[in-house]
Amino acid sequence: MRDYGAGPSRRADARDVRITDVETAVIEGNFDWNLVRIHTDAGVTGLGESYRGGRVTDIMGYMTDFLVGENPLDVERLFRRLVQETSGHGGTTGKVVTAASGIEIALWDLAGKLLDLPTYQLLGGKYRDEVRLYCDCHAGEAYAVDTGYTDYGDEAAYEPTAYAETATQAVELGFDAIKFDLDTPADNDPDPFNGRLSAADVAEKEAIVEAVVEAVGDDAEVAFDCHWDYSLDTAKRLARALEPYGLLWLEDVVPPENVDAQREVARSTSTPLATGENRFRVHEFADLLYDFAVDVVTPDPTTCGGLAESRAIANRAEENYITFSPHNVCSPVGTMACVHLGASVPNFDYLEYHALEVDWWDDLLVRSEPLIQDGRITVPETPGLGVELDEDVAADHAKGEGLWTSRTD
Ligand code: MG
Repeated sequence: MRDYGAGPSRRADARDVRITDVETAVIEGNFDWNLVRIHTDAGVTGLGESYRGGRVTDIMGYMTDFLVGENPLDVERLFRRLVQETSGHGGTTGKVVTAASGIEIALWDLAGKLLDLPTYQLLGGKYRDEVRLYCDCHAGEAYAVDTGYTDYGDEAAYEPTAYAETATQAVELGFDAIKFDLDTPADNDPDPFNGRLSAADVAEKEAIVEAVVEAVGDDAEVAFDCHWDYSLDTAKRLARALEPYGLLWLEDVVPPENVDAQREVARSTSTPLATGENRFRVHEFADLLYDFAVDVVTPDPTTCGGLAESRAIANRAEENYITFSPHNVCSPVGTMACVHLGASVPNFDYLEYHALEVDWWDDLLVRSEPLIQDGRITVPETPGLGVELDEDVAADHAKGEGLWTSRTD
């Protein structure tokens, strides 16, 4: 039988390293950031992050048994082992892949530290010294953060003028690409279920788009996110109405399960369409990419299977000359993992930044200067991901008692 737990036995003594423990932590940011730290008998640790989601850290803890005693340098085999060992729990998709994604990222960090190379070097080398970020601005008002969680703005935040003001502020911070939510609470009127917008509703969306595009001019590219909200006819009508505005992309216009519907919208409009953040592993992207159902593919590396799986998705996209702009709502840890990925694939365009309202986002890392400067992150030359967690800041924002939890405690 195929057994990804049956690893090879020959290795130079210097690289004969074993995993000894797996710890997890949840940091309360604007989302719950699920961190994982892997320990080895070499005294070197690796840090990773999985996409937000309840109990993801419990699943990472469950995976400890399949990692202890293994050599962390076999990153891709170990990822496959985690998928195989959880296959009876839906391991080919969903939350178990999310959990395995953070572990896979921590293994890349570990491998880089053990081999004294930055992670991008292990992913095949780099195409660029800096990775560009686009700033997710929510609606006309960023999430208000109280008690570490998110609250949506009031109705005034959805006025075109509010969007335009926020757009100007984001561009002043140095971002040359920004994204806003185009789906608003008003979409629920008169019916919260069928996803159809009236002609007047579409005109209101167009007014928002026009206000933002006019506010930023040539200083920034502009994308809008629809969060899988619309019926097929509305998605087509909206995408066509927005054609004159030259958007960077229009994201997730129809629900995510049906590639045929997504392709129907893509065929009907010249507005570039983006999707991918809630698909898992390369297999769930194949039809999307090979059927030209998407113009910009947006997988989340901390969701879809980690850095190697994301690279495989980017490679398939590249075959059809489709650009790759990863979704990212992570702490600086997961963000930096995406930076190494973005450096190492040719068709990378933009990485998402979604923590404008978290004023301690940068403080989570031990650094002397902000991670993002002029809308870009410099690709690190230090071993692994090039991140050191500030344990005190992390502990201040940890969910529950203490910071780290180990299954072997
Ligand atoms: Mg999105």
